[in-house]
Amino acid sequence: MEVTKCSRCGAFYTTEGHVCPKCTDKDNFELSTFKNFVEENGMELNSLSEVAISTGISEKNLTRFLGYEGLEGYKKLFK
Ligand SMILES: [Zn+2]
Repeated sequence: MEVTKCSRCGAFYTTEGHVCPKCTDKDNFELSTFKNFVEENGMELNSLSEVAISTGISEKNLTRFLGYEGLEGYKKLFK
């Protein structure tokens, strides 16, 4: 059985996914908030810290989202 450490809360979990089951809802919610924000403001975005301030999502989590499948294209928006 593979044990993963949750990057949000630090708990260990054995299920699939980027974060532990307890954090999944919050993670998905922030991920969609991030996606919507980028869709609405894509061309005007300069930095992740700007997104963090506007969305209330921590920069650490935003950086993590950039590594998620399907968000590869977002990486070039933030250098
Ligand atoms: Zn967690």
